[in-house]
Amino acid sequence: MSIEVTNVNKAFGSFKALNHIDLKISTGELVALLGPSGSGKTTLLRIIAGLETADAGSIIFDGEDNTEKSTQDRKVGFVFQHYALFRHMTVFENIAFGLKVRPSKLRPSKEAINGKVRELLSLVKMEELAQRYPAQLSGGQRQRIALARALAVEPKVLLLDEPFGALDAKVRKDLRRWLRKLHDEYPITSVFVTHDQEEALDVADRIVILNQGKIEQMGTPEEVYDNPVNPFVYNFLGNVNLFHGRVHNGKVEIGSLKLDIPEHAKKDNKEIVSYSRPHDIEISVEDEGKGFIPAEILFIRALGPVVNLELKRTDSGDYLEAEISKERFKELELHEKQKVYLRPKDFRVFIPEDYVI
Ligand code: ADP
Ligand code: MG
Repeated sequence: MSIEVTNVNKAFGSFKALNHIDLKISTGELVALLGPSGSGKTTLLRIIAGLETADAGSIIFDGEDNTEKSTQDRKVGFVFQHYALFRHMTVFENIAFGLKVRPSKLRPSKEAINGKVRELLSLVKMEELAQRYPAQLSGGQRQRIALARALAVEPKVLLLDEPFGALDAKVRKDLRRWLRKLHDEYPITSVFVTHDQEEALDVADRIVILNQGKIEQMGTPEEVYDNPVNPFVYNFLGNVNLFHGRVHNGKVEIGSLKLDIPEHAKKDNKEIVSYSRPHDIEISVEDEGKGFIPAEILFIRALGPVVNLELKRTDSGDYLEAEISKERFKELELHEKQKVYLRPKDFRVFIPEDYVI
């Protein structure tokens, strides 16, 4: 089922929680709504579900206007961060619940319900635990049962609000792999809320980045990570270094370093900020007459194949982070307190006055 959100607004009193939200999700997609706390993710999910009404705009499922429809009629399944399972029911009964409470005309036969529950238990790899009670399960197992329970009524749309938020890092990672796989095997469209950029980048077909009730950017994980449209998205999706500079004669000058910036070349004398990810910082042990930025290595963390360096610019006093391969690290024979020279080899320039940075 495709989902279309058109021009949705929502205010709580005078506070605008959602501002002109337009969003199209194709059938079968797994889309992450990503943003900081309070950015409107849950509100948007609840409006898609019909648990909250928008002040303006429409929610369209498969071309059909669902804006006025009840949650039941929308045939959506939910999983929340704390989706309390029924404590007095076994795993089996919990999954069967949504089918058993249907009015008799719509209720499947006992055999059909049993078959469906067994199919879902196998899907979430919990066949052996069917007779357990929720208190006898781990947090990760409970969330898998919550997912199976949501899927039992065969929703066309699955809405997940920080479903793994309360679990520890290792279990979270296992569960999101598992959700990805489930999604590839099961014909369903999913919208997944998270404030964790790594989780969104890891699991989603497409990411919608929300900030203060507005969509900042939408795209595949690669698109948004490699081409953030503004400083907010750059900052939100990963570590980034900021270099303040000024445009002069068609180049940006950052300390003694001059970089070509064709798209801003005509903005002479403008102040700019250049954004660069830690793995895009080039390090040399000598200046080689190239006007690189001088810095001192403060701290080295050399775990695994990537070496993280914390640096302080000796010209401006700004702190920076760089990531280089272990090979390169050994080649350069770097050590703490060493003076080095650096240059952002990949970067993007924003003009602060165009944005609220
Ligand atoms: P997120 O899920 O991204 O953390 P929410 O959608 O829950 O954000 O909330 C967005 C903003 O709307 C927050 O500032 C929140 O305080 C406000 N808000 C959400 N629900 C209500 C409500 N029922 N009444 C008043 N304010 C609300
Ligand atoms: Mg929320």
